[in-house]
Amino acid sequence: MSARRRQRIRVILPAFVRLAAIAIVAVAVAAAFGVQAGLWVALVAIGLFFALHLHYLSTLGAWLEEPSLETIPEGWGSWTEVFNRLHKARRSSEINAHRLEENEARFRRTISALPEGIVLVDAALQIEWCNPVAERHFSIRLGADHGLRVTNLVRDPAFVNYMTSASFGEPLLFRPLASPSLALSIRVIEFEPSRSIIMSSDVTEAERLDAMRRDFVANVSHELRTPLTVVNGFLETLLETEPPLDQLRQKHLQLMHEQSTRMNRLVEDLLMLSRLEAGETPLAEDLVDVAALLAELQAEARALSGGRHEIVGSAEPVRVRGSRDELRSAFGNLVSNAIRYTPTGGRIALSWRAHDDDGAVFEVQDSGIGIAPEHLPRLTERFYRVDRSRSRETGGTGLGLAIVKHVLMRHQGRLLVESEEGRGSAFRAWLPAARLHSGPAPLRRVA
Ligand code: ADP
Repeated sequence: MSARRRQRIRVILPAFVRLAAIAIVAVAVAAAFGVQAGLWVALVAIGLFFALHLHYLSTLGAWLEEPSLETIPEGWGSWTEVFNRLHKARRSSEINAHRLEENEARFRRTISALPEGIVLVDAALQIEWCNPVAERHFSIRLGADHGLRVTNLVRDPAFVNYMTSASFGEPLLFRPLASPSLALSIRVIEFEPSRSIIMSSDVTEAERLDAMRRDFVANVSHELRTPLTVVNGFLETLLETEPPLDQLRQKHLQLMHEQSTRMNRLVEDLLMLSRLEAGETPLAEDLVDVAALLAELQAEARALSGGRHEIVGSAEPVRVRGSRDELRSAFGNLVSNAIRYTPTGGRIALSWRAHDDDGAVFEVQDSGIGIAPEHLPRLTERFYRVDRSRSRETGGTGLGLAIVKHVLMRHQGRLLVESEEGRGSAFRAWLPAARLHSGPAPLRRVA
């Protein structure tokens, strides 16, 4: 017999025993005083029995309205077993609830002890809970601000834009207006469809060191610029002297000139990078005619290629709000890379296309040497080169794609690369729709 069945029998057995006792007494009375007397006794006993059960049923109903361990009623007969079981079930559920509460409290204590700020928000960005570090980072108070939208409390545009962008691939570096000496790195983790964790880490010290490093690189580059220009100038003069120097000296001077020109390019790229890193937004907000820029870059590419490649271009009349110099430098780097990494006879295609409401793309496609997939994620790191000697031979500094990435980031854009080793590459600079302007380009005055 199954345990369940045994349990059931244990509940109903006392009732059967009592019914049997009533039956025996009724039969005995019937034998002694006649059938009618026996029936009366049975009727009265069953009536009492029924009334007793009704009483316990109503007691159970009343208890279920407000169930609590302390008020569990005492029973009689089958009801003793029923109430005992209720007591047991209630007790274990109270123990479980207590354990759950304790676990949650321990979990919150653990999160509170983390050095990171944690804010739990719902789909509408309303604060459900936060730890004391987050209270400090965002200048909020859980007691008073519970249920309020976090973007109503932290109103800095960078933070509000990030939180409403719903694109949390990259962390946000953020200096709260309320405490500008603090540098925070913000991450958002969506852990349920309608709930997220905002995690803030204090990166003030790391930022300070990074700023020191940037300043150092910028200062060294700046200091190197003048002596290099002087050396370069003298080398050019020496190379052009009349009568020309003997062949060996000429060759040595030529080599020195090439190297100092390379150093010059390196210094210029380092200065450009530190300028880009100094601020988060473009220095200028011009309305850039990208179609005209593409035509300029195409002409430069033809000059650089010297007829070794087929170079084609196509552009839509869509303009971009941003820094013309920065975009020119970024797109120019992509074009010069395509020429440098495409062997003679290859094809290079430049294009500028808008994609309805999904921004626009400046694309440089080449049929060059291509890049193996393992290198793709690291291409925009400073000085990362797939083939160091090829990069040097072709006059590369190793900083071109780092510059492209920074310029695009400052324009809220992205660099996308598709490449296959031995078949060619496509570098796409994507710019968001919010920066596009598709009205007709202003007429240029021809004097
Ligand atoms: P570099 O000055 O070395 O070209 P970049 O930052 O411009 O530096 O590029 C980084 C590396 O990415 C290059 O060294 C090269 O290996 C690879 N690369 C960039 N563009 C291309 C391309 N169009 N085809 C093949 N490899 C490329």
